[in-house]
Amino acid sequence: MNEQSTYDVAIIGGGPAGYTAGIYAARASLNTAVFEQGMPGGQIATSDTIDNYPAFPSISGAELGMKMQDHSEQAGAQTIYEMVNNVHIDETGEFDVETVSATYHARSLIVATGARPRLAGFKGENDYRGRGISYCATCDGMFYRGKDLFVVGGGNSAVEEAMFLAKIAKHVTMVVRKNHFRASRGMVSRLLEHDNVSVRFNTSITEVTGGTLLNRIEFIDTTNGESRVEELPEGSFGIFVFTGNDPVVDLVKDYVDLGSDGGVITDDSMMTKTPGLFCVGDMRTKQLRQVITAAADGAIAGTAAYRYLEQLD
Ligand SMILES: Cc1cc2nc3c(=O)[nH]c(=O)nc-3n(C[C@H](O)[C@H](O)[C@H](O)COP(=O)(O)OP(=O)(O)OC[C@H]3O[C@@H](n4cnc5c(N)ncnc54)[C@H](O)[C@@H]3O)c2cc1C
Repeated sequence: MNEQSTYDVAIIGGGPAGYTAGIYAARASLNTAVFEQGMPGGQIATSDTIDNYPAFPSISGAELGMKMQDHSEQAGAQTIYEMVNNVHIDETGEFDVETVSATYHARSLIVATGARPRLAGFKGENDYRGRGISYCATCDGMFYRGKDLFVVGGGNSAVEEAMFLAKIAKHVTMVVRKNHFRASRGMVSRLLEHDNVSVRFNTSITEVTGGTLLNRIEFIDTTNGESRVEELPEGSFGIFVFTGNDPVVDLVKDYVDLGSDGGVITDDSMMTKTPGLFCVGDMRTKQLRQVITAAADGAIAGTAAYRYLEQLD
């Protein structure tokens, strides 16, 4: 493994939080690298439309993500397309960032690894992942053109993704555990304007089975525990799960404190209990996980990293 460049700031994660941190750190003349394992933009890269980011009343997530990356690179941050496997703090309190091909050194570290989809938790969910069960409408929706879809979840993401799927599918059935949606009223109204969308409240999926693809779903009525089985031809339907996201904290969990939602606890400058280690965006414990709040965290951390390094010099 090669020992490579030293950076003032290494940023892990090229989503809204990471790239905004990149803009602020690079504009403060810090030598800045952003590590991204996949498509820049993070979770929004697969979102059809972002409707609530200021100055962009409606923009595709992929376009907004690319604009953030361009902006960060124009400011001087370098994107390194590698997955970070490990982070190590050396005896001087500086950071080694290990990828499969190299170890990079950084005087401060901003971690922006975001969140990943939470499983709904029914039996068979893992077995049929990619064979009838999906977590990304934009990525997989096209495979279900003209088919029946079940969308699990009642929050904003579930409703937003169901609207996208309704344009493709024959019918979309929302499967909502409670007797109401958690999503905003405006979004629910827009969803229900689609003729091919129906809702099953007080309902959960408990088990799925099938052959190569799914062919059987067991539902439960959450008010009385009664179960009902639906058998459908293989390949005629799919299930999309949008039941929330869990913070991705694996790289730093030994160096930080975690909150009750599994996110990293920071101070107001986004610094964790480890000096020079900042965590930002959806991986942080917080009230609202959105692009604007991720970007705000990144701006604060990019500036705070500059101040942190300045007081060391
Ligand atoms: C379906 C869906 C729709 C949404 N719609 C909206 C919306 O309309 N408006 C809105 O404001 N918000 C929306 N959100 C929420 C928004 O996407 C997130 O709040 C935001 O993306 C968080 O940004 P982030 O930078 O913290 O993390 P992320 O966007 O999760 O980015 C994290 C990045 O880190 C990278 N990464 C992770 N681990 C590593 C590693 N080890 N090495 C290298 N790279 C790594 C990932 O590949 C990813 O690119 C939506 C989310 C989803 C899932």
